[in-house]
Amino acid sequence: MQFYNTSNRRKEEFIPREPGKVNIYVCGVTAYDYCHIGHARSAVVFDVLVRYLRFCGYQVCFARNFTDVDDKIINRANEEGLDSETVANKFINAFYQDMEKLNVLEPDFEPKATEHIEHMQEMVQTLLDKGHAYSTESGDVYFRVRSFPDYGALSGRNIEELKSGTRVNPEEEKEDPLDFALWKSAKENEPSWPSPWGFGRPGWHIECSAMSKKYFPLPLDIHGGGQDLVFPHHENERAQTVAATGTDFVNYWLHNGFVRIQQEKMSKSLGNFVVIRDILNYFLPEVVRFFLLSTHYRSPLDFSWENLQETEKAVKRIYQTKQQLLHLPDTANTTANPLPEDIKQEANALLDTWDESLSDDLNTAATLGHVFSLVRIANRILEDKKLKKSGESRELLLNISQTLDQAGSILGLFELDSAQFLEDLRKIKAKRLDLDISSIEELIKQREQARKEKDFQRADSIRDELSEMGIKLQDSPSGTIWDVE
Ligand SMILES: [Zn+2]
Repeated sequence: MQFYNTSNRRKEEFIPREPGKVNIYVCGVTAYDYCHIGHARSAVVFDVLVRYLRFCGYQVCFARNFTDVDDKIINRANEEGLDSETVANKFINAFYQDMEKLNVLEPDFEPKATEHIEHMQEMVQTLLDKGHAYSTESGDVYFRVRSFPDYGALSGRNIEELKSGTRVNPEEEKEDPLDFALWKSAKENEPSWPSPWGFGRPGWHIECSAMSKKYFPLPLDIHGGGQDLVFPHHENERAQTVAATGTDFVNYWLHNGFVRIQQEKMSKSLGNFVVIRDILNYFLPEVVRFFLLSTHYRSPLDFSWENLQETEKAVKRIYQTKQQLLHLPDTANTTANPLPEDIKQEANALLDTWDESLSDDLNTAATLGHVFSLVRIANRILEDKKLKKSGESRELLLNISQTLDQAGSILGLFELDSAQFLEDLRKIKAKRLDLDISSIEELIKQREQARKEKDFQRADSIRDELSEMGIKLQDSPSGTIWDVE
């Protein structure tokens, strides 16, 4: 198994520090707003990483934190006349709701910054004692970047380069503009805690250093997060932990790429972001999850409504196939017709190797491609009456069905009841077109009644009326199914 390690800028064989066990820490959200698709990408990618490592037999321990004290939360709280705890709790709850819909499993630990103030203070004190930090008259504590010669190694920057890019803020009592805050003295309208340096609150970076050290032995096997966290957040986490503990911090740094909108990086600060709950008004969560995994996690992912619609078609096709795979002829009704050799060969190769791409830096895009090829083969057989009846086909289709289930459990996809999924899909597509589902269903009932009464003219005119609305009908022995064209 190989992962691209940000700190060495290359793919490396993955060797956990303790055989059979993997500890993972991923930086979670700052709870000051609803989760956008960039947050969802990170959550889904690392969810699949954890599921895949477990599938491979590793005992995985996974922590993802919540930043619940921060400038952004405080600003929002002050804007809304609330306290920052209320704001943080509101958005933490919203995050849980979004994650549940996206089928993201709960981590083993979800530490919150405000619940670990003591651990952070302890680490700040250690850094002070070792000369890696200093406190100021006003009660701030800063990390002394120049005391840590390796600073910049993770993100591939050097100190001189960084220095030319920093602005000097005369209000801050820093020795060096590169230094960053470990502890901030209390200001009006801000939450604060007592400390040896006076009332104050932690700087952002210290929480992940303190909390990862509390929950795991160091070094961590894997530390993950979005690419935008490499600098300064992860660079600073690394400096703090290594300076305080004298041990390595992380063996493998994994970072997921940006989500882009019209070729531009999507971000809250640029104002071009799309919130998950807005997307879920128009698309099923499984379609969104599939979309997030359809590009390799390190590559930029281009968000657009058109791309989601394309993804929707692919997911629909897979569920339609899944549904058909539930109704294969039983063994007594199969024939001895052999399957064509080319189908057999292609299918067997895919069945043997579909998951290999996951061991190559978690290439979910390639894996989904293999899964889709298997679905295409299944359809080729299912659409051919003669082939479908062959005993060999039945065996192959059962293998494909099993593989779909297995791939689905790693990717967190295709786990829903097919009929239910397809019905939900029709409904959300109708909603997108602003169609009223109850009136569609009423018209279908009237058409069925007309057909029973052999009033075919009326039945056809209802069909035309529905067609004009963008609804197509498919009559089957079990009734009429509608879909949005
Ligand atoms: Zn962090």
